[in-house]
Amino acid sequence: MKNVALTVSLALALITFGWIAVRIWRTSSLAHPGKVLVTGYCNCEKCCGWKRLPDGSTVYTYGKMKGKPKKVGVTSRGKVAGYGTIAADLKHYPYGTRLNVPGYGVGIVEDIGGAIKGHHIDVWFPTHEEAKRWGAKWLKVDPM
Ligand SMILES: [Zn+2]
Repeated sequence: MKNVALTVSLALALITFGWIAVRIWRTSSLAHPGKVLVTGYCNCEKCCGWKRLPDGSTVYTYGKMKGKPKKVGVTSRGKVAGYGTIAADLKHYPYGTRLNVPGYGVGIVEDIGGAIKGHHIDVWFPTHEEAKRWGAKWLKVDPM
């Protein structure tokens, strides 16, 4: 009887492990060769990690810049964010890189983000709704 219990728990452990492995695989760039994960963002506090202090000023809420003044709607490169602004990992796509993002259009890398690392870029939308509607897509993004 002990062996049966052991076999069952081993099988369950293997199934769980397999399920986790598949989930990790699906969200990794290895499962999407030649593609990047494209997510949407806007200027809001949720997307950009800032908060308004009682005196009306705005500061970063996390990361290296935590507590430092944050200009809402201004990219890390000091430009006003607008349609076509892209946040990227500068090791992959340096500032000024023009990218053709299917379904979005041509944008320019002008920003960075705490969660934007490796094969992951963020495309700017004027509202949080639109950013959410875009969601997260694996796309073939061509530098131009
Ligand atoms: Zn937002």
